[in-house]
Amino acid sequence: MKKRIFSYMFRTVLLTLLLGSCAVMLILYNYFGRVQLDQLRTESKMTAEAVEKDGLNYLYKLHLTKTRITWIAADGTVIYDNQGDASKMGNHGDRPEVVQALKEGIGESSRYSETLSRQMLYNARKLPDGTVIRLSEGRDSVLRAAFAALFPMTLVLAVLLLISWFYSSRMSRKIVQPINSFDLDHPLENEEYPELSPFAHRIYEQQKQIQQQKEHLYRSEKSFVSVTDNMKEGLILLNPDGRILTINRPAMALLNTTAGCVGKDILYLERRIEFEKALDLAAKGNHQELILSYSGRSYQMDITPVYNNDSLTGMVLLLFDVTDRIKAEQMRKEFSANVSHELKTPLHTISGCAELLESGEVKPEDTKKFIHTIYTQAHRMIDLVQDILYISHLDEGAQDLKWEKTDLMGAVKKAVDQLTPTAAQRGIRLYPTGLSSDIDGIPRLVESIVYNLIDNAIKYNHNNGAVYIALKNRNDSVVLTVEDTGIGIPEEDQYRIFERFYRVDKSHSREIGGTGLGLSIVKHACQILHAKIRVDSTLGDGSTFTVTFLKDVPEDLRGTGNL
Ligand code: ADP
Repeated sequence: MKKRIFSYMFRTVLLTLLLGSCAVMLILYNYFGRVQLDQLRTESKMTAEAVEKDGLNYLYKLHLTKTRITWIAADGTVIYDNQGDASKMGNHGDRPEVVQALKEGIGESSRYSETLSRQMLYNARKLPDGTVIRLSEGRDSVLRAAFAALFPMTLVLAVLLLISWFYSSRMSRKIVQPINSFDLDHPLENEEYPELSPFAHRIYEQQKQIQQQKEHLYRSEKSFVSVTDNMKEGLILLNPDGRILTINRPAMALLNTTAGCVGKDILYLERRIEFEKALDLAAKGNHQELILSYSGRSYQMDITPVYNNDSLTGMVLLLFDVTDRIKAEQMRKEFSANVSHELKTPLHTISGCAELLESGEVKPEDTKKFIHTIYTQAHRMIDLVQDILYISHLDEGAQDLKWEKTDLMGAVKKAVDQLTPTAAQRGIRLYPTGLSSDIDGIPRLVESIVYNLIDNAIKYNHNNGAVYIALKNRNDSVVLTVEDTGIGIPEEDQYRIFERFYRVDKSHSREIGGTGLGLSIVKHACQILHAKIRVDSTLGDGSTFTVTFLKDVPEDLRGTGNL
């Protein structure tokens, strides 16, 4: 810009100087022309007067070289010429100035002389004797005069141009300086050029708009980040090339990365072949679902291609924990297999006994034994079916069962009353201790816990053993311990006894009428009640089951527990 302004200014000055010089020269040329003519007139008058008095004597005495003097007779014959031989000159009677002088007394003309190659001025005067005295002087042409003045003029012009160069450059710098130092951050504070005011206002308005848009974007991004970071699922947005655009906190934690991974290829975080294949297919427009495991947990990954006007603009990856679902599915499968297996044994026994009875091959004294077997196996099946139905009920959340203040001691007494006859058959004594203690619970579940634990303590006890049932009151909990003097549980089995159908000694358990579901029901009920269960056992010495019940369970926790 500075260069442009300078160039315009300098060219303007240059043009002005050239035109001005030409104009001045023309004016001066005309002015000096007039002066020269006046001088010629005066000289002509004086010469005419002198010639009239002294005739040729005067002319011979003159030593004018610049002015040509010609004395012409009335008939046009040249009498005298100071710059030529008069005798050799032709008749001058036809010269316009001579013709005019003879007629009017004074004659003037100006014409180009081919002989001298220059413009000539003529002034002629008629003397009283009829002769004519004529003075003439040469005059330079405009070009010649300009050429003569070329050197000084060039010198002056050069000096002027130098000065104008200097000022043009200074001024252009001065003009541009406020524009260069225009404060774009505070456009309205620039008051140097009022002409820039609309421009400044425009910038100000646009800056305001940009700021508002920036704030809007910032707010949207913040709320997007806070929403996605608080999601349980991992969320990753990819561009069509598979580079990470956004990744939320759960996804970062899962893939063990930081926000620094944004901009990198997703394969930098996850390189498993099945993932690469799914990503490729998704990039071709097919929604993909796959299960990947991270830190021992299973995650479903959904990859959804995102389209805008038929062109792929990116991909959305959603990662969610499906460990429980998969486990539950697995458990359900195992459960069904186990149920069929468990039911098969008593059914086979029943059908075998019935077949034998029907064939009539059974001795009359054995008939009772067979009928008794059918009866016990049928009961075993009933127990099994009841336990299965009960555990399924718990699986579904046991929503129909109501929470209420439950007296644990009441549940202990009830179970002891029910089981004392069974225990007595084997000489086992039950010792319940403790005071009545209320907890928040579901009576039926509390009773199941207490019953199953005392039942097991009897079932897996030695004959004439003992079972100690104690209730201890703590600040915010009541602790139930069921201790027996029985066979104990091997250490490697202790963590598995709560699994469905798991038994340390299958045949022994069946013999004594165990279904393998008792402790599963206990564990499930404890989860619903937010109670904690623990087992301490020494093989051969006996086992102690400890359940810690919360006295107060907040309303919002009274659901299905962490099943
Ligand atoms: P079951 O119907 O077979 O008793 P449970 O789920 O109640 O099924 O118990 C699972 C297994 O845990 C039992 O088969 C048994 O081996 C073991 N068990 C449970 N309670 C005791 C205990 N008090 N003493 C020793 N073993 C026990």
